[in-house]
Amino acid sequence: MITIGVLGLQGAVDEHMNQVKSAGEQAVLVKKPEQLGDIDGLIIPGGESTTMGKLMDHYGFKEPIAAFYKQKKPIFGTCAGMVLVAKELCSSEAPHLELMDITVKRNGFGRQRESFEAPLLIKGMDDPFQGIFIRAPLAVRVSENVEVLASFEENIVAARQEHVLISAFHPELTEDNRFMQLFIDMIKNPVY
Ligand code: GLN
Repeated sequence: MITIGVLGLQGAVDEHMNQVKSAGEQAVLVKKPEQLGDIDGLIIPGGESTTMGKLMDHYGFKEPIAAFYKQKKPIFGTCAGMVLVAKELCSSEAPHLELMDITVKRNGFGRQRESFEAPLLIKGMDDPFQGIFIRAPLAVRVSENVEVLASFEENIVAARQEHVLISAFHPELTEDNRFMQLFIDMIKNPVY
């Protein structure tokens, strides 16, 4: 069994913890940077990226997460988590972790479509995965080293670069474990 940490500063923390457990793995709520030493992979959940970024700075997470990344430990950013791992943001705000070579537009689907659901074709999955989008970001640029896993209306909504995975939607809000399984496989069978 592997241990997956969920960054517990703000946002959809419990839902990720539950999905990790329902996939048969151990889930740990990460409240302090020292706990990164006890986990095999880290989930940065959805929530409010500006607030979470500030809390990350306040609790001294930035450097320890960068070190965790350098150790090739897998990281999964969902929604606000995707904003936080991006190298660049469309607006002038500073991105925080800069772990994936993508440019992200926050609230990329606009006000008319703040929240919606759509079936997505995800690379490696035979059947569609129900994407739940809540004020979701989208990637407007990805480098050639980034593997696009899913798009919605030409917008990139899931991708992977080496040991970092992102989704603009919320897989933890569905009963479907398949996207989480993708992250678990990255931890169990590292390629990088
Ligand atoms: N719009 C939020 C942000 O940019 C993300 C929303 C979410 O995580 N559901 O921080």
